[in-house]
Amino acid sequence: MKKEIRGQEKLMRYEDALSRVLGSVTRKLAVESVAVEQSLGRVLREDVRAGFNIPPFDKSAMDGYAVRARDTRGAAEDAPVTLRVIEDLPAGKSPRRKITAGHAARIMTGAPRPAGADAVVMVEQTERDDAAGAVRIFREVKPGENAGQAGEDVKKGALVLRSGSRIGPADMGMMAALGRARVKVSARPRVAVISTGDEVQVPGKKLGKGQIYDANGYSLTGLAALLHCDAKFLGIARDRAGELKKKIRAARGADVVALTGGVSMGDYDFVTGLLRSLTARQIFYKANIKPGKPTFAGIKGKQLFFGLPGNPVSCMVCFELFVRPALEKMAGRSAIGMPRGRAVLDVDLKLKPGRRKFIRAAVVGSGPELRVRPYFNQKSGVLSSMVESDVLLDIPGDSSSLAAGTQVELWWLWEDRAWRS
Ligand code: AMP
Ligand code: MG
Repeated sequence: MKKEIRGQEKLMRYEDALSRVLGSVTRKLAVESVAVEQSLGRVLREDVRAGFNIPPFDKSAMDGYAVRARDTRGAAEDAPVTLRVIEDLPAGKSPRRKITAGHAARIMTGAPRPAGADAVVMVEQTERDDAAGAVRIFREVKPGENAGQAGEDVKKGALVLRSGSRIGPADMGMMAALGRARVKVSARPRVAVISTGDEVQVPGKKLGKGQIYDANGYSLTGLAALLHCDAKFLGIARDRAGELKKKIRAARGADVVALTGGVSMGDYDFVTGLLRSLTARQIFYKANIKPGKPTFAGIKGKQLFFGLPGNPVSCMVCFELFVRPALEKMAGRSAIGMPRGRAVLDVDLKLKPGRRKFIRAAVVGSGPELRVRPYFNQKSGVLSSMVESDVLLDIPGDSSSLAAGTQVELWWLWEDRAWRS
Protein backbone atom coordinates (compact mmCIF):
# COMPACT_ATOMS: atom_id res chain seq x y z
CA MET A 1 0.00 0.00 0.00
CA LYS A 2 1.17 3.50 -0.82
CA LYS A 3 2.11 5.37 2.32
CA GLU A 4 0.48 8.77 2.62
CA ILE A 5 2.07 11.03 5.16
CA ARG A 6 0.54 14.28 6.28
CA GLY A 7 2.16 16.90 8.38
CA GLN A 8 4.86 19.52 8.26
CA GLU A 9 6.27 20.09 4.81
CA LYS A 10 9.52 21.92 4.26
CA LEU A 11 8.64 24.79 1.97
CA MET A 12 11.19 27.23 0.66
CA ARG A 13 10.67 30.98 1.05
CA TYR A 14 9.85 32.73 -2.21
CA GLU A 15 12.99 34.86 -2.10
CA ASP A 16 15.19 31.81 -1.59
CA ALA A 17 13.54 29.88 -4.41
CA LEU A 18 13.81 32.91 -6.68
CA SER A 19 17.44 33.54 -5.87
CA ARG A 20 18.18 29.90 -6.66
CA VAL A 21 16.42 30.30 -10.00
CA LEU A 22 18.33 33.48 -10.78
CA GLY A 23 21.55 31.86 -9.62
CA SER A 24 20.99 29.15 -12.22
CA VAL A 25 20.92 31.70 -15.02
CA THR A 26 24.62 32.16 -15.52
CA ARG A 27 24.80 33.19 -19.17
CA LYS A 28 23.20 35.98 -21.10
CA LEU A 29 21.53 35.28 -24.42
CA ALA A 30 23.34 36.19 -27.63
CA VAL A 31 23.41 39.78 -28.83
CA GLU A 32 21.80 40.54 -32.18
CA SER A 33 21.33 43.66 -34.23
CA VAL A 34 17.79 44.72 -35.14
CA ALA A 35 16.30 47.63 -37.05
CA VAL A 36 15.19 50.34 -34.63
CA GLU A 37 11.60 50.14 -35.90
CA GLN A 38 11.58 46.43 -34.96
CA SER A 39 13.08 46.94 -31.51
CA LEU A 40 10.02 47.56 -29.32
CA GLY A 41 10.20 45.60 -26.09
CA ARG A 42 13.64 44.17 -26.74
CA VAL A 43 16.38 44.45 -24.13
CA LEU A 44 19.19 46.83 -25.05
CA ARG A 45 22.66 45.32 -24.96
CA GLU A 46 24.63 48.47 -25.62
CA ASP A 47 24.73 51.92 -24.09
CA VAL A 48 23.35 54.50 -26.49
CA ARG A 49 25.22 57.82 -26.39
CA ALA A 50 24.56 61.01 -28.28
CA GLY A 51 27.10 61.59 -31.04
CA PHE A 52 25.85 65.16 -31.46
CA ASN A 53 23.53 67.73 -29.91
CA ILE A 54 19.76 67.46 -30.25
CA PRO A 55 18.60 69.72 -31.65
CA PRO A 56 21.82 70.04 -33.63
CA PHE A 57 21.34 73.79 -34.13
CA ASP A 58 19.53 76.75 -32.54
CA LYS A 59 16.09 76.83 -34.09
CA SER A 60 12.69 78.41 -34.14
CA ALA A 61 9.89 76.82 -32.13
CA MET A 62 7.19 78.85 -33.95
CA ASP A 63 6.22 80.18 -37.34
CA GLY A 64 6.99 83.89 -37.19
CA TYR A 65 9.92 86.28 -37.24
CA ALA A 66 13.41 85.74 -35.86
CA VAL A 67 14.43 88.93 -34.07
CA ARG A 68 16.74 90.44 -31.50
CA ALA A 69 14.48 90.50 -28.42
CA ARG A 70 15.67 93.95 -27.46
CA ASP A 71 14.41 95.34 -30.81
CA THR A 72 10.84 94.48 -29.78
CA ARG A 73 10.99 96.37 -26.50
CA GLY A 74 7.78 98.34 -25.93
CA ALA A 75 5.96 96.75 -28.89
CA ALA A 76 2.21 96.65 -28.24
CA GLU A 77 -1.11 96.43 -30.08
CA ASP A 78 -1.29 100.21 -30.38
CA ALA A 79 2.47 100.75 -30.67
CA PRO A 80 3.93 98.24 -33.16
CA VAL A 81 7.63 98.09 -33.87
CA THR A 82 8.61 97.86 -37.52
CA LEU A 83 11.59 95.69 -38.55
CA ARG A 84 13.07 95.11 -42.00
CA VAL A 85 12.73 91.50 -43.24
CA ILE A 86 16.07 90.43 -44.71
CA GLU A 87 15.55 86.71 -45.33
CA ASP A 88 12.93 83.97 -45.64
CA LEU A 89 13.76 80.78 -43.71
CA PRO A 90 11.61 77.69 -44.27
CA ALA A 91 12.53 74.55 -42.26
CA GLY A 92 15.59 72.87 -43.72
CA LYS A 93 17.18 76.08 -45.02
CA SER A 94 20.33 77.58 -43.52
CA PRO A 95 20.33 81.29 -42.78
CA ARG A 96 22.84 83.26 -44.76
CA ARG A 97 22.65 86.55 -42.92
CA LYS A 98 23.08 87.69 -39.36
CA ILE A 99 20.26 89.59 -37.69
CA THR A 100 21.44 93.03 -36.69
CA ALA A 101 19.61 95.99 -35.14
CA GLY A 102 16.29 96.74 -36.84
CA HIS A 103 16.28 93.51 -38.86
CA ALA A 104 14.21 90.32 -38.77
CA ALA A 105 13.96 87.09 -40.77
CA ARG A 106 10.70 85.37 -41.62
CA ILE A 107 11.15 81.88 -40.12
CA MET A 108 9.18 78.65 -39.92
CA THR A 109 9.03 76.14 -37.04
CA GLY A 110 12.14 73.95 -37.00
CA ALA A 111 14.22 76.24 -39.22
CA PRO A 112 17.69 77.15 -37.97
CA ARG A 113 17.65 80.52 -36.20
CA PRO A 114 20.00 83.06 -37.79
CA ALA A 115 22.93 84.37 -35.77
CA GLY A 116 21.99 87.43 -33.76
CA ALA A 117 18.33 86.41 -33.39
CA ASP A 118 17.69 85.37 -29.80
CA ALA A 119 13.88 85.15 -30.01
CA VAL A 120 11.00 84.54 -32.37
CA VAL A 121 7.77 86.54 -32.57
CA MET A 122 4.76 84.40 -33.42
CA VAL A 123 3.25 85.17 -36.81
CA GLU A 124 -0.10 85.84 -35.08
CA GLN A 125 1.47 88.84 -33.34
CA THR A 126 2.75 90.40 -36.53
CA GLU A 127 1.53 92.00 -39.74
CA ARG A 128 3.63 91.80 -42.84
CA ASP A 129 4.14 94.74 -45.15
CA ASP A 130 5.47 93.19 -48.36
CA ALA A 131 5.61 96.50 -50.21
CA ALA A 132 8.00 97.90 -47.64
CA GLY A 133 9.83 94.59 -47.13
CA ALA A 134 9.01 94.95 -43.46
CA VAL A 135 7.01 93.45 -40.61
CA ARG A 136 5.07 95.16 -37.85
CA ILE A 137 5.45 93.54 -34.43
CA PHE A 138 2.65 93.97 -31.91
CA ARG A 139 4.17 92.29 -28.91
CA GLU A 140 7.41 92.40 -27.01
CA VAL A 141 9.34 89.12 -26.74
CA LYS A 142 11.93 88.14 -24.17
CA PRO A 143 15.32 86.66 -25.07
CA GLY A 144 14.86 82.92 -25.63
CA GLU A 145 11.14 83.16 -26.33
CA ASN A 146 9.97 80.64 -28.97
CA ALA A 147 13.61 79.83 -29.55
CA GLY A 148 15.00 76.28 -29.36
CA GLN A 149 18.62 75.97 -28.20
CA ALA A 150 21.12 73.52 -29.68
CA GLY A 151 21.54 70.59 -27.26
CA GLU A 152 18.60 71.55 -25.04
CA ASP A 153 17.09 68.08 -25.54
CA VAL A 154 20.27 65.97 -25.55
CA LYS A 155 23.88 67.10 -25.15
CA LYS A 156 26.57 65.60 -27.33
CA GLY A 157 28.22 62.71 -25.46
CA ALA A 158 25.31 62.16 -23.05
CA LEU A 159 24.35 58.60 -22.06
CA VAL A 160 20.81 58.46 -23.41
CA LEU A 161 19.80 54.80 -23.04
CA ARG A 162 21.41 52.21 -20.80
CA SER A 163 22.31 48.65 -21.65
CA GLY A 164 19.84 46.39 -19.84
CA SER A 165 16.84 48.66 -20.30
CA ARG A 166 13.83 47.57 -22.30
CA ILE A 167 13.21 49.54 -25.46
CA GLY A 168 10.01 51.58 -25.36
CA PRO A 169 8.40 53.76 -28.05
CA ALA A 170 10.13 56.95 -26.85
CA ASP A 171 13.48 55.12 -26.88
CA MET A 172 12.84 54.10 -30.50
CA GLY A 173 12.21 57.73 -31.43
CA MET A 174 15.29 58.86 -29.54
CA MET A 175 17.59 56.34 -31.23
CA ALA A 176 16.26 57.47 -34.60
CA ALA A 177 16.72 61.12 -33.62
CA LEU A 178 20.35 60.23 -32.91
CA GLY A 179 20.66 58.84 -36.42
CA ARG A 180 20.65 55.19 -35.37
CA ALA A 181 19.08 52.77 -37.85
CA ARG A 182 19.99 49.57 -35.97
CA VAL A 183 20.56 48.65 -32.36
CA LYS A 184 22.11 45.77 -30.40
CA VAL A 185 19.59 43.80 -28.36
CA SER A 186 19.33 40.42 -26.67
CA ALA A 187 18.12 37.53 -28.77
CA ARG A 188 14.54 36.69 -27.82
CA PRO A 189 14.45 34.02 -25.13
CA ARG A 190 13.04 30.83 -26.67
CA VAL A 191 10.25 29.44 -24.53
CA ALA A 192 8.58 26.08 -25.11
CA VAL A 193 5.21 25.56 -23.43
CA ILE A 194 3.83 22.06 -22.73
CA SER A 195 0.48 21.25 -21.15
CA THR A 196 -0.08 17.89 -19.46
CA GLY A 197 -3.11 15.94 -18.38
CA ASP A 198 -5.39 13.16 -19.62
CA GLU A 199 -8.39 15.37 -18.97
CA VAL A 200 -7.04 18.30 -20.96
CA GLN A 201 -8.45 18.74 -24.46
CA VAL A 202 -7.42 20.90 -27.41
CA PRO A 203 -9.78 23.89 -27.91
CA GLY A 204 -11.76 23.40 -31.10
CA LYS A 205 -12.11 19.64 -30.56
CA LYS A 206 -15.12 18.02 -28.92
CA LEU A 207 -15.07 17.89 -25.16
CA GLY A 208 -15.50 14.38 -23.72
CA LYS A 209 -16.99 13.51 -20.33
CA GLY A 210 -14.80 14.77 -17.50
CA GLN A 211 -12.62 16.75 -19.88
CA ILE A 212 -11.73 20.42 -19.81
CA TYR A 213 -10.12 22.55 -22.45
CA ASP A 214 -6.49 23.47 -22.12
CA ALA A 215 -6.29 26.99 -20.72
CA ASN A 216 -2.73 27.03 -19.42
CA GLY A 217 -0.95 26.36 -22.69
CA TYR A 218 -2.53 29.52 -24.01
CA SER A 219 -2.14 31.79 -20.99
CA LEU A 220 1.52 30.79 -20.67
CA THR A 221 2.15 31.41 -24.35
CA GLY A 222 0.56 34.84 -23.89
CA LEU A 223 2.66 35.66 -20.86
CA ALA A 224 5.84 34.67 -22.68
CA ALA A 225 4.84 36.73 -25.70
CA LEU A 226 4.20 39.76 -23.45
CA LEU A 227 7.84 39.46 -22.41
CA HIS A 228 8.85 39.50 -26.09
CA CYS A 229 9.97 35.90 -26.02
CA ASP A 230 9.93 33.57 -28.97
CA ALA A 231 7.15 31.40 -27.50
CA LYS A 232 6.17 28.03 -28.96
CA PHE A 233 3.26 26.03 -27.65
CA LEU A 234 4.02 22.34 -28.13
CA GLY A 235 0.56 21.07 -27.23
CA ILE A 236 -0.73 18.62 -24.64
CA ALA A 237 1.07 15.53 -23.34
CA ARG A 238 -1.10 12.77 -21.87
CA ASP A 239 -0.27 11.62 -18.35
CA ARG A 240 2.27 9.11 -19.61
CA ALA A 241 6.02 9.46 -19.32
CA GLY A 242 6.61 8.47 -22.95
CA GLU A 243 4.44 11.27 -24.31
CA LEU A 244 5.95 13.85 -22.06
CA LYS A 245 9.47 12.77 -22.97
CA LYS A 246 8.58 13.16 -26.62
CA LYS A 247 7.33 16.69 -26.06
CA ILE A 248 10.42 17.54 -24.04
CA ARG A 249 12.57 16.31 -26.92
CA ALA A 250 10.59 18.58 -29.22
CA ALA A 251 11.51 21.47 -26.91
CA ARG A 252 15.19 21.01 -27.78
CA GLY A 253 16.68 24.38 -28.47
CA ALA A 254 14.38 26.25 -26.10
CA ASP A 255 16.09 28.28 -23.39
CA VAL A 256 13.16 27.65 -21.06
CA VAL A 257 10.67 24.79 -21.02
CA ALA A 258 7.49 25.64 -19.12
CA LEU A 259 5.30 22.64 -18.31
CA THR A 260 1.98 22.83 -16.58
CA GLY A 261 0.11 20.24 -14.56
CA GLY A 262 1.13 17.03 -12.87
CA VAL A 263 3.41 18.60 -10.27
CA SER A 264 1.43 17.90 -7.12
CA MET A 265 0.70 14.74 -5.13
CA GLY A 266 -1.94 13.03 -7.28
CA ASP A 267 -1.52 9.45 -8.46
CA TYR A 268 -0.84 10.61 -12.02
CA ASP A 269 1.30 13.62 -11.13
CA PHE A 270 4.51 12.35 -12.56
CA VAL A 271 5.86 15.58 -14.12
CA THR A 272 8.02 16.42 -11.11
CA GLY A 273 9.41 12.91 -10.95
CA LEU A 274 10.14 12.84 -14.63
CA LEU A 275 11.70 16.29 -14.58
CA ARG A 276 13.77 15.25 -11.59
CA SER A 277 15.15 12.32 -13.51
CA LEU A 278 15.57 14.24 -16.76
CA THR A 279 17.15 17.39 -15.38
CA ALA A 280 20.67 17.30 -14.10
CA ARG A 281 19.90 19.41 -11.06
CA GLN A 282 16.81 20.42 -9.13
CA ILE A 283 16.75 24.16 -8.46
CA PHE A 284 13.84 24.01 -6.06
CA TYR A 285 10.58 22.18 -5.48
CA LYS A 286 7.75 23.65 -3.46
CA ALA A 287 7.72 27.21 -2.23
CA ASN A 288 5.91 28.71 0.73
CA ILE A 289 3.43 30.65 -1.38
CA LYS A 290 -0.27 30.54 -2.22
CA PRO A 291 -1.14 29.93 -4.97
CA GLY A 292 1.65 27.90 -6.51
CA LYS A 293 3.15 25.78 -3.76
CA PRO A 294 4.11 22.71 -5.85
CA THR A 295 6.19 24.54 -8.46
CA PHE A 296 9.33 22.72 -9.61
CA ALA A 297 12.41 24.14 -11.28
CA GLY A 298 15.38 22.24 -12.66
CA ILE A 299 18.25 22.71 -15.04
CA LYS A 300 19.73 20.49 -17.72
CA GLY A 301 22.62 21.76 -19.75
CA LYS A 302 21.63 25.20 -20.96
CA GLN A 303 17.90 24.57 -20.52
CA LEU A 304 15.78 25.62 -17.57
CA PHE A 305 12.70 23.51 -16.83
CA PHE A 306 9.73 24.75 -14.86
CA GLY A 307 6.97 22.42 -13.71
CA LEU A 308 4.12 24.83 -13.04
CA PRO A 309 0.93 23.82 -11.22
CA GLY A 310 -2.05 22.79 -13.31
CA ASN A 311 -4.50 25.09 -11.63
CA PRO A 312 -4.88 27.93 -14.11
CA VAL A 313 -4.27 30.74 -11.60
CA SER A 314 -1.32 29.07 -9.90
CA CYS A 315 0.15 28.36 -13.29
CA MET A 316 0.08 31.99 -14.43
CA VAL A 317 1.13 33.42 -11.06
CA CYS A 318 4.11 31.06 -10.87
CA PHE A 319 5.16 31.94 -14.38
CA GLU A 320 5.26 35.58 -13.29
CA LEU A 321 6.98 34.79 -9.98
CA PHE A 322 9.66 32.41 -11.23
CA VAL A 323 9.86 32.08 -15.01
CA ARG A 324 9.64 35.76 -15.84
CA PRO A 325 12.63 36.76 -13.67
CA ALA A 326 14.69 33.98 -15.23
CA LEU A 327 13.79 35.16 -18.74
CA GLU A 328 14.59 38.75 -17.84
CA LYS A 329 17.92 37.84 -16.35
CA MET A 330 19.01 35.79 -19.36
CA ALA A 331 18.04 38.69 -21.60
CA GLY A 332 20.34 40.93 -19.56
CA ARG A 333 17.62 43.14 -18.17
CA SER A 334 18.47 45.35 -15.24
CA ALA A 335 14.88 45.43 -13.93
CA ILE A 336 13.82 41.95 -12.93
CA GLY A 337 10.34 40.85 -11.87
CA MET A 338 6.90 42.36 -11.97
CA PRO A 339 6.80 46.11 -11.37
CA ARG A 340 5.70 46.85 -7.82
CA GLY A 341 3.82 49.53 -5.97
CA ARG A 342 1.53 50.23 -3.06
CA ALA A 343 -2.20 50.72 -2.74
CA VAL A 344 -4.96 50.82 -0.19
CA LEU A 345 -7.49 48.04 0.29
CA ASP A 346 -10.96 49.10 -0.83
CA VAL A 347 -12.71 46.41 1.22
CA ASP A 348 -11.93 44.15 4.18
CA LEU A 349 -9.82 41.13 3.29
CA LYS A 350 -10.28 37.93 5.33
CA LEU A 351 -7.25 35.63 5.39
CA LYS A 352 -6.08 32.43 6.96
CA PRO A 353 -2.53 32.83 8.21
CA GLY A 354 -0.10 30.44 6.56
CA ARG A 355 1.76 30.77 3.29
CA ARG A 356 2.65 34.12 1.70
CA LYS A 357 -0.25 35.01 -0.57
CA PHE A 358 -0.56 36.58 -3.98
CA ILE A 359 -4.12 37.88 -4.03
CA ARG A 360 -5.70 38.78 -7.37
CA ALA A 361 -7.19 42.28 -7.28
CA ALA A 362 -8.52 45.03 -9.51
CA VAL A 363 -7.62 48.70 -9.31
CA VAL A 364 -10.83 50.62 -8.55
CA GLY A 365 -11.99 54.23 -8.27
CA SER A 366 -10.28 57.36 -9.50
CA GLY A 367 -9.37 59.15 -6.29
CA PRO A 368 -5.95 60.49 -5.32
CA GLU A 369 -5.03 57.12 -3.82
CA LEU A 370 -4.60 53.87 -5.69
CA ARG A 371 -7.31 51.55 -4.34
CA VAL A 372 -7.51 47.81 -4.93
CA ARG A 373 -10.37 45.34 -4.57
CA PRO A 374 -9.55 41.63 -4.26
CA TYR A 375 -11.55 39.33 -6.53
CA PHE A 376 -14.25 37.64 -4.45
CA ASN A 377 -13.12 34.11 -5.27
CA GLN A 378 -9.42 33.48 -4.66
CA LYS A 379 -9.41 29.72 -5.41
CA SER A 380 -6.40 28.79 -7.49
CA GLY A 381 -8.54 27.17 -10.16
CA VAL A 382 -10.73 30.24 -10.74
CA LEU A 383 -9.27 31.80 -13.87
CA SER A 384 -11.85 34.63 -13.78
CA SER A 385 -9.82 36.10 -10.94
CA MET A 386 -6.97 36.65 -13.40
CA VAL A 387 -9.26 37.92 -16.15
CA GLU A 388 -10.71 40.53 -13.79
CA SER A 389 -7.48 41.60 -12.11
CA ASP A 390 -4.80 44.22 -12.64
CA VAL A 391 -2.48 43.37 -9.77
CA LEU A 392 -1.35 40.71 -7.34
CA LEU A 393 -1.36 41.81 -3.70
CA ASP A 394 1.68 40.48 -1.88
CA ILE A 395 0.37 39.55 1.55
CA PRO A 396 2.75 38.21 4.21
CA GLY A 397 1.98 34.73 5.52
CA ASP A 398 1.33 35.86 9.07
CA SER A 399 -1.36 38.37 8.08
CA SER A 400 -4.81 37.52 9.31
CA SER A 401 -7.67 39.75 8.30
CA LEU A 402 -6.88 43.16 6.85
CA ALA A 403 -9.35 46.03 7.21
CA ALA A 404 -10.41 48.30 4.34
CA GLY A 405 -7.98 51.22 4.24
CA THR A 406 -4.91 49.09 5.02
CA GLN A 407 -1.90 49.75 2.81
CA VAL A 408 -0.72 46.75 0.82
CA GLU A 409 2.12 45.90 -1.56
CA LEU A 410 1.10 45.24 -5.13
CA TRP A 411 2.73 43.69 -8.17
CA TRP A 412 1.40 44.80 -11.54
CA LEU A 413 0.09 42.15 -13.89
CA TRP A 414 0.35 42.61 -17.66
CA GLU A 415 2.27 45.83 -17.23
CA ASP A 416 5.72 46.92 -17.96
CA ARG A 417 6.29 50.19 -16.21
CA ALA A 418 9.99 49.71 -15.96
CA TRP A 419 11.09 50.94 -19.38
CA ARG A 420 13.53 53.32 -17.74
CA SER A 421 15.40 51.02 -15.43
P1 AMP B 1 -2.66 18.94 -11.82
O1 AMP B 1 -1.58 19.91 -11.41
O2 AMP B 1 -2.33 18.19 -13.04
O3 AMP B 1 -3.06 18.06 -10.67
O4 AMP B 1 -3.93 19.83 -12.15
C1 AMP B 1 -4.54 20.65 -11.18
C2 AMP B 1 -5.86 21.17 -11.71
O5 AMP B 1 -5.61 22.00 -12.85
C3 AMP B 1 -6.80 20.10 -12.20
O6 AMP B 1 -8.11 20.51 -11.90
C4 AMP B 1 -6.58 20.08 -13.69
O7 AMP B 1 -7.69 19.60 -14.39
C5 AMP B 1 -6.33 21.53 -13.99
N1 AMP B 1 -5.49 21.69 -15.16
C6 AMP B 1 -4.34 21.02 -15.43
N2 AMP B 1 -3.82 21.40 -16.60
C7 AMP B 1 -4.65 22.32 -17.11
C8 AMP B 1 -4.64 23.09 -18.30
N3 AMP B 1 -3.66 22.98 -19.19
N4 AMP B 1 -5.65 23.97 -18.51
C9 AMP B 1 -6.63 24.10 -17.58
N5 AMP B 1 -6.68 23.41 -16.44
C10 AMP B 1 -5.71 22.53 -16.19
MG1 MG C 1 -2.84 16.71 -14.26
